[in-house]
This record gives sequence, C-alpha cells and structure tokens, in this order.
Amino acid sequence: MTNKYCSVKPALNAGLRQVFIETYGCQMNVNDSEVVLSILQPHGYSLCNSIKEADLILINTCSIRDNAEQRIWGRLDIFRLEKKKRKGVVVGILGCMAERLKEDLLNHTAVDIVAGPDSYRELPQLIASLTGGGKQINTILSQEETYADISPVRMDKNGVSSYISIMRGCNNMCTYCVVPYVRGAERSRDPKSIVKEAEELFGNGYREVTLLGQNVDSYNWVNPENPTEKTDFARLLEMVALIDPKLRVRFSTSHPKDMGDSVLYTMAMYPNICKHVHLPVQSGSDAVLAKMNRKYTRESYLRRVAKIREVLPDCSISTDIITGFCGESEEDHLETLSIMREVGYYTAYMFQYSERPNTKAARHYPDDVPAEVKSRRLSEVIQVHGEISLASNQKDLGKVFEVLVEGYSKRSKAELTGRSSQNKVVVFPAGNHKVGDYVNVKIERCTPATLIGTEIIK
Ligand code: SF4
Repeated sequence: MTNKYCSVKPALNAGLRQVFIETYGCQMNVNDSEVVLSILQPHGYSLCNSIKEADLILINTCSIRDNAEQRIWGRLDIFRLEKKKRKGVVVGILGCMAERLKEDLLNHTAVDIVAGPDSYRELPQLIASLTGGGKQINTILSQEETYADISPVRMDKNGVSSYISIMRGCNNMCTYCVVPYVRGAERSRDPKSIVKEAEELFGNGYREVTLLGQNVDSYNWVNPENPTEKTDFARLLEMVALIDPKLRVRFSTSHPKDMGDSVLYTMAMYPNICKHVHLPVQSGSDAVLAKMNRKYTRESYLRRVAKIREVLPDCSISTDIITGFCGESEEDHLETLSIMREVGYYTAYMFQYSERPNTKAARHYPDDVPAEVKSRRLSEVIQVHGEISLASNQKDLGKVFEVLVEGYSKRSKAELTGRSSQNKVVVFPAGNHKVGDYVNVKIERCTPATLIGTEIIK
C-alpha cells in the first residue's frame, strides 16, 4: 500500500486555480490521478503541493483493505478543518471508495463531489455545477471508458520511469476482492494510443514504462471498426518494446491462470522487456485457492513457474500473499510457507485478510481466523520472505547487471540507486553518472532488499 503526494511545484501564474491531488492505493490509481490532472488543466487548474494552497482538494481512494479506507476518513476530517478556515475550497473524492460508498461519502460535511473511476471526464462539469451550493456525484461505471485519448500529466519524481494503464476493470471475481465491483468490467485500451503514449514518454527522456492492468494477460483489444483485427498482450508488449532498445518495458499484474507461453517467448526475444514477473499466488493451499476462486491449483501455479524458469532462466518472480483467509487451517498456512520457499520469490506483498463488504467472501464465508492467528501467520510469512529474498540476492553476488539509474541512494549523494532488469534495487558509487543512465554494476554485497556493487566497464 502506498501513499503518494503530488510533488510538482505550483504554477507561478497566480490567476490559475490550484488543485491538490492525494493518491492512495496501487500504481493504477497514481496513473488515474495523472489522467485527472490532464482533464483539469485545460479548465484552468494547476497542481500544487499543499492543501493550504488548494482551491480544489482531490483524494483518489483505495478500497482494497479496511485500513486504507480508515485512513481516508481521517483525511476527510483534516480537509473539513481546512474548509472551515478558507471558504470556497472544494473537496472531491475519487476512485474505488467513491464508487463503493457513493452517497455515504457525499453525506460527510467535508465532501462536495464524489466521482467514480469512470467519471473523471465529468469532473469539470461536476465542479461547475457546485455553484448553487449543492453537492455532486457521478459513479456510473462504463463498459467502454479507457481514457485512451488522454495523455496523463506525469507526477512521478524521477522523470525516468513511468506507468501506462493498458486496460481497466476486472472480470475475475476473486471472492475476497472488491475491484470488479468498484472498477467495473474489463476493457482493453487501443494499442495505438498505448504505443503513442510510450513514444512520447521516451521522447521526453523517460527510459522505462510499466504497462498496468489488473490482469494484463487477458488484455485483448478488438478494433470496433474491424472485429477481425485483434491485439493480445504478447503483441502489445512487442509493439512497445520495438519503440527503442533503450526503452525498458515492464508490466503488472500477471494472473497465474492466464499467463500464456507467448508472453514468455516475447520477453525472451527482446532484451529491453524486463525479466521480472509479478505472479500473485495468494495462498499455497488448493483448498484456500478454490475458496478464493483463483482458478488455479498449487500444482498448475508451480508448472507456470517452471515454464518461466525454462524460457527465462534469469527472470525474477515476485508475488502477493494473503494470510488468514476464511477457513485457512494451520496446514493451509504451512503450504503457503512451503510454496514461498519452493518458488524463491525475490519479494512479496504480504497482508492479513481484510473482509470487504459485499464481496462473495463477505456474503458467504465467515471471517473465522482469529486476529491474533492472522497476525502470527503474517509474521511467519514475513520471516520466510526475509530468508528467501536474502537467499535470492545472495545468488546474484559476483554477477553483472545493467542498472537504470533512478536517483541518489537514501544514505548518500555519493551513491546512485536504480533497478536491474529483474527489478532488484542496486546501489553503487555515483562516479560521473546521472539519472537516466544505464550502468553495468558488478554485485559485491547484499541485504534482503538491496544489491550493492561497483561499476564495471564491459
Ligand atoms: S484478479 Fe482477482 S484479485 Fe485481481 S483485481 Fe481481479 S478480482 Fe481482484
């Protein structure tokens, strides 16, 4: 779970109205905030970096876990105080929580606008309609909206790595997940608009794009004017990789039931497609996977991993894990620990199960693993994660990786940090290099989270 605040300096033109956008949740939400800024700019809004300067405060929300929503309720109380101090400030709630809670959010005294993920084009209209002192809401989900024609205004900090949404929504209906309810059905974006966006980023100095979707492997664009013309994810990856060998291409998230061999062969063919797959396992137990409606088994998941290793021997694999899902027994939990060791993930996002209202799990399965058991199991998962990520990094000692420089290390301006193709963080002495350079680094030391080395001239 991330919490990103915009960092672009406010415009000097005092005539412009200022918007502050606060974004919670996944990278897709960050990208959506960039789309929102792009929609607002022609209407006279410029980004600022404090609610104290803002005429319009937008909070792009996440509903994936209860604690994410609780933080947003807390922020609304802060915004209410700001509105008391400065009359005329407008507060809008965007994203998944807006879609899930609708009028319940609108009833909060701080909130003027509630806009779901498919109604961002309507924001200028919703703002303009506030003049009578009322509130505005639009949470209509769309079958078509992909914001394909909108070039997001980038808010990232490094100017090197950026994200491109290639699809919206999800059709999978995992029983614990709120996404299909709040982001709607899956829609694929026109590949030409994706390639154009990636070309523009490359032209503006970016050297890495990550193609984003809830399930990128089911990307499937069909030309509405010629239904025989189709583009699948492997082809899209290739189209983006062909823009320039110096543009790295990443993608997330893959679904174990859908990741086809053609994607792996395409990754093998192009050195600039990064050798990293994020393959959420969620649990190592077949009983839990079935209850989660993940539509794969432990065995079929491990077959996918074996295929990745066969086609891409130097590929790293990361994952997501939920501990304490409904009915999870101690044996189920041990199977999760064992699959973690068997795959040897280099990193993982690990969470306790958090029941989300109206999901199938909430309606049909008791949330019956006691909180202290969930917490203890999560600690064990985190401990195994520490062991296997250290072991994964130790295997890299002595190897040389091409690193794309993203910035200075946290500890010193004399060191740079970047990532290898495998998505591992690498730190090395800066020399004469700068952000955006590719540098070959030989790995000499490591921690569970970082590879440390020095440049070598090949
Ligand atoms: S694949 Fe499952 S977990 Fe992922 S967004 Fe879709 S429903 Fe949620």
